[in-house]
Formats: sequence, structure tokens, C-alpha cells
Amino acid sequence: MNIALIAHDKKKELMVQFCMAYCGILSKHNLCATGTTGKLVSEATGLKIDRFLSGAQGGDQQIGARVAYNEIDMVIFLCDPMAAPGTVSDVHALQRLCDLHSIPMATNIATAEMLVLGLDRGDLSWRDIVNPKRQPKPRTY
Ligand code: PGA
Repeated sequence: MNIALIAHDKKKELMVQFCMAYCGILSKHNLCATGTTGKLVSEATGLKIDRFLSGAQGGDQQIGARVAYNEIDMVIFLCDPMAAPGTVSDVHALQRLCDLHSIPMATNIATAEMLVLGLDRGDLSWRDIVNPKRQPKPRTY
């Protein structure tokens, strides 16, 4: 599965702790993240993470573009509800795209834990049917 990680500044430490706790599960999947979040998580956990631009430079919109193409299977966006109004609208824009494709998106740690545990239990295997382009191509020889 393709998992996107984003954390507002005040939630970055929490994201690092979350990824350390669930490193064993997350390491079985393809991870991508906004710039700073990805840097902090990969340095702390050693997880391989494809990094987009920082959020301030449009990294969450780059992730949004992949969500719009239904290429992301889960989004974990740890939000700071006290952040500036502009930052909150970024969350809503991504949420809307996730809703368009029924892509699960967590905006707080409690939901993130449920999604990751569900992922490990196979609860998201329906994504392989919805999103068949992610399945390996049959060999031609
Ligand atoms: P960052 O972006 O990981 O590059 O800080 C996240 C955000 O949108 O705040």
C-alpha cells in the first residue's frame, strides 16, 4: 500500500513517535511524506520515505495530486487544530480528495493507530481491487 505522512509543526514529534512505534508495520509499505515530516521520520526510524516538497512549498498539494489520481491508499495527516486558518484549509482540501476516492485519512493519533492496525490486519485489501494499477504486471515471458 502507498501511505502518505504529513504532520503540522506541533505534531511532528508525535508523528516520529508514532512511526517508531509502528515501524514494523510501516516498513512493509511504500511511504511518502512532505519534506520536513519525511526527513524527521526517516532520520529517527531508518524507514525509506519518498519525500515531496515541504508543506510550505506545496508538498501537501503534491500528495493531493497523487490522491486525486487514487494512487495513495492511506493518508496520515496529524493536524494542529490551533494552527493558522490557512493551514487548516490545506487539511480540508486533502480530506475532500480522499472522500472522492474513499481513501482512509487520519487527522489525529487515535484514528492513525486504528488505521495502521487495520492495515496490518488486511482491512484495506479492498484497495487492491479498487486500484488495480498498483498490482504487479503479469510477466510476459
Ligand atoms: P512539512 O509539511 O512536513 O514539510 O513541514 C507539513 C505541513 O504542511 O505543515
